[in-house]
Amino acid sequence: MNTFATYDLIVVGAGIVGADCADAASGDGLRVAIVEPGPIGGGATPAAMGHLVAMYDDPAELALARYSLRQWEHFAELKDAEFSRCGTWWVARGERELAAAAARAARLAAADIDAHVLDARELYEQEPALAPGMSGGMLVPREAVVYPPRVARHLVQRAQSRGAVLHAGRRVQTLRRGGALLDDGTSLAGPVLVATGCALPALLPQLPMRARKGHLVITDRYPGLVRHQLLELGYADSAHGDADSSVAFNVQPRPTGQILLGSSREFSATDAAVSPAMLRRMLERCFSFVPALRGLQALRAWTGFRPTTPDGRPYLGAAPGADDVWVAAGHEGLGVTTAMGSARLLLDLIQGRQPAIDPAPYAPSRALA
Ligand SMILES: Cc1cc2nc3c(=O)[nH]c(=O)nc-3n(C[C@H](O)[C@H](O)[C@H](O)COP(=O)(O)OP(=O)(O)OC[C@H]3O[C@@H](n4cnc5c(N)ncnc54)[C@H](O)[C@@H]3O)c2cc1C
Repeated sequence: MNTFATYDLIVVGAGIVGADCADAASGDGLRVAIVEPGPIGGGATPAAMGHLVAMYDDPAELALARYSLRQWEHFAELKDAEFSRCGTWWVARGERELAAAAARAARLAAADIDAHVLDARELYEQEPALAPGMSGGMLVPREAVVYPPRVARHLVQRAQSRGAVLHAGRRVQTLRRGGALLDDGTSLAGPVLVATGCALPALLPQLPMRARKGHLVITDRYPGLVRHQLLELGYADSAHGDADSSVAFNVQPRPTGQILLGSSREFSATDAAVSPAMLRRMLERCFSFVPALRGLQALRAWTGFRPTTPDGRPYLGAAPGADDVWVAAGHEGLGVTTAMGSARLLLDLIQGRQPAIDPAPYAPSRALA
């Protein structure tokens, strides 16, 4: 039997982005439906490192990250978030990298994000496990890490406590004029917000999306071996470059004392299996920065897929060629960080308010230009 219900917003997908949008919409007093076929905080979200980080090389991305990082401060005390303010050290290998760090720190400082270029003495004082020969780097002391799937569950539960209806175990099969049809035949009426990450083209084929595979490894507990999220300054080249495959040193101390090791990026790998060759390449990169990592006990390795738009920026706004359909998808490797700002920007657009940051760089219509 077909059922029919009307909402102010139907949120499709409950990864970190959809969960945040549902939370923001219900906080605005909207009647919200959430549709999610898998676990809440599924998709790319549970595969992520959970590093809340301002990338600095694209002004639009920096604006969204800065806006989002402010929202994340509201979660600093939330037990479910497992928020840990470990700070970020961008490590320089060589004087040239250190010189480039100054321009990056200036860009962050101009966005009101505390960042300092420090020399090798200060780096080794704070991170003695680093291999000899580092030149110093950039410290961003207020950045943090969280546990993304638990945050997503918290956000969905908060939305439900305000009356949002969760259609768990259900998938949106098609978008229809004025609503969505679920795979069990249920019709939902109302504006739709599609937050399905890599799966976006299944519902909106006019918006191209590629899945960019990544590997991570988590170790047993070694508290204090590394104290900050450590990245090589060349990480942004890996994240924003278009190379088919790349690795970069990216290591995170979890609040449990475990160490999370990353990261890799691949466009052409489409299966979710762990690739021993890619894992070896990624780990060798990590060992070259922190040799003691080689002797640690690894507990688990996994992969995930980053939803990647052609220009690397998320689609946030009205879906081109569809009435009353909105999009929040394509956050690549920054979606945990930028989910918060994305949700608020979207809700401002949906509610006809002026967003706090310029929405133009994220307009989905650019895909058709
Ligand atoms: C290895 C790795 C490391 C990362 N590290 C970080 C990091 O440190 N910091 C950071 O900020 N970001 C990081 N990211 C990026 C981040 O994980 C993603 O950008 C983010 O999780 C995307 O969230 P999302 O909600 O858009 O998509 P997803 O989490 O993929 O959620 C999409 C949801 O939509 C659902 N769905 C799909 N189709 C339908 C349908 N038809 N109907 C209903 N529901 C549907 C899916 O089941 C899924 O739950 C990392 C990613 C990877 C892979």
